[in-house]
Amino acid sequence: MNIRIGNGYDVHALAEGLPLWLGGVRIDSPIGCIAHSDGDVAIHALCDALLGALALGDIGKHFPDTSDEFKGIDSKILLRRVMDLIEADGWSVVNVDVTIAMQRPKLAPYIVAMRECMASIMGCSAGQVSVKATTTEKLGFVGRSEGCEVYAVALLEKKDETYD
Ligand code: MG
Repeated sequence: MNIRIGNGYDVHALAEGLPLWLGGVRIDSPIGCIAHSDGDVAIHALCDALLGALALGDIGKHFPDTSDEFKGIDSKILLRRVMDLIEADGWSVVNVDVTIAMQRPKLAPYIVAMRECMASIMGCSAGQVSVKATTTEKLGFVGRSEGCEVYAVALLEKKDETYD
């Protein structure tokens, strides 16, 4: 069995009155991400982790924010397209782990929905998709609610065709 690991990182600035999407789920929040897409910073970091595992570059390369095609795009579509790239070469997800750093709002009520949503897009179970949320104890740009920061790790496997 071949395995590969990748990590991803993304930040978006936050502003009042914008919708907040995280992990494919609409979060009830007075602040949301400033972005060319729907601003789902969690999915963006996850996409970069998946792409990174196979050294396929980053989402900026595949979905440039200068392109009208991706203006306001639902990031769930980007995640599905990343999965298409991965699956085309025979790889599948072993597990992913996503950590969202955000001072407010509280994300705990949305964690299960985020896990289930991203799992369904990736064609795996929610048990393979970890989502964690943390504040930064009011320190830094995250702590001042100026931005949202996400770290992601993805492990992929490719079954050895000899033993299938
Ligand atoms: Mg982004």
